[in-house]
Amino acid sequence: MSKGNGMTGKPHVVVLGCNFGGLTAARFIREKAGDSVDITVIDRKPYLVFVPNIQMEVFANKDPEEKLQMQFYEFLKGDGSVFLQAEVKDVDIESKCITIVPTERPGAATEKVQYDYIVFALGCKLDYAAIPGFAEYGHTVSDTFYGNKLRRHLFSGGYKGGPIAIGTARFKMGTKGRPAWIPTMTSACEGPPLELSLGLASLLKEKNWGSAKNITLFTQGEWIAEDAGVPLVKEFLKIAVDGMGMSYMNQTEDIKEITKDGIEFTNGKSLEAELKIVLPNWVAHDFIKKLPIVDEEGFIITDLYMRNQDHPEIFAVGDCAALTAPKLGGIGDMEARIVAQQIAKDMGKLNPEEKEMKFAPVVMCFGDMGDHKAFYIHSDLIYGGKTGIMKMGHKYFMMKVGFKETYFMLGGKTPEWGIRLTELVGD
Ligand SMILES: Cc1cc2nc3c(=O)[nH]c(=O)nc-3n(C[C@H](O)[C@H](O)[C@H](O)COP(=O)(O)OP(=O)(O)OC[C@H]3O[C@@H](n4cnc5c(N)ncnc54)[C@H](O)[C@@H]3O)c2cc1C
Repeated sequence: MSKGNGMTGKPHVVVLGCNFGGLTAARFIREKAGDSVDITVIDRKPYLVFVPNIQMEVFANKDPEEKLQMQFYEFLKGDGSVFLQAEVKDVDIESKCITIVPTERPGAATEKVQYDYIVFALGCKLDYAAIPGFAEYGHTVSDTFYGNKLRRHLFSGGYKGGPIAIGTARFKMGTKGRPAWIPTMTSACEGPPLELSLGLASLLKEKNWGSAKNITLFTQGEWIAEDAGVPLVKEFLKIAVDGMGMSYMNQTEDIKEITKDGIEFTNGKSLEAELKIVLPNWVAHDFIKKLPIVDEEGFIITDLYMRNQDHPEIFAVGDCAALTAPKLGGIGDMEARIVAQQIAKDMGKLNPEEKEMKFAPVVMCFGDMGDHKAFYIHSDLIYGGKTGIMKMGHKYFMMKVGFKETYFMLGGKTPEWGIRLTELVGD
């Protein structure tokens, strides 16, 4: 039995996954609950990948592995938490037992970890395998492997100046347990195509490889990135389509196949393209899909305190949680802070002065535009709110880069006000 440091008799909190959701959850649980709990964190790899900045490195012809992988061990050790580098294979929620296989060397034997509290932060499977032709003809920037593949293609003369298609495959959301104010979204995360289109347009111009006119943005629904709110999307399209000359194709339904010459959609539409940059469907992990705590698509059902109501010792944060829509690291970060408070509250450690947080999402992101500029979106319009802010300029680029540096320096424990500050100091 591998128990992390859950040997002291204190409640044992096990955090599964250590990227944006898991690292922040583990660190704030320690801050809020103090030494009233033992904490073990399990991930198959010993570093965090700062996914949102991969495109910037790729378009600057820099290997994203160099600057975007953050070793988190020292932060967890400093907190007195234990890290286990292992693949999570299964969770028995009745016996509160996790099955893992260490990943450092192949051939390791299966181990068991017992928990009192469990925080699922395992993200999703980005389902490129479900898109026929992706491996041969598709590109993307969602991890350093694919980022480098695109970088090598672009900067070794692979791109010949033809049409470029950028968009996402259809996302399938469950409905069980989802509040009515979180609408069904057809894309899991559609900020990246906006960012890719602007960043690439800038690169094409800089290298004399073409212009924004080479690019077509496509989307399944009426509006691309509708999670930012339709008024903001219209503003974006005015700039990208009317101003820069990009093309826009909507109502594509879903990607059927990527071919050498373009993209075929499931409703018969098609796009001619030499370069195809796509994001896939975000799909729940197979073992999680089988657990009795998930919705129809395998996302973990929680209340607004990120706690499963049938199993109050189970929490979920980040992309694997049903409430997380769209799938954004910023939303996962907020959920991680909520979970930390809830566990501290159970331990009788929540400061009575502290306001109890409840899930109230906002869509917040910085998007690279090339030429050292970025856009900044802060919106809750999709949830029926009234905030819809989009700004662009050099300062937001500095904020995007600065946020990553702060994140790495503080090991995922960024102050919440760090992002809101952008609205005060922007162009
Ligand atoms: C191109 C792109 C750009 C993006 N830009 C933004 C942005 O600007 N702003 C924003 O807020 N969000 C952005 N996102 C979304 C953001 O990256 C995700 O929402 C975020 O990474 C989710 O965090 P997570 O911790 O829930 O999951 P993940 O980041 O997917 O982390 C899951 C962790 O669990 C581990 N894991 C998974 N399965 C297992 C297993 N079985 N055993 C052991 N370990 C396992 C993984 O190794 C990983 O460390 C972007 C996404 C993409 C693809």
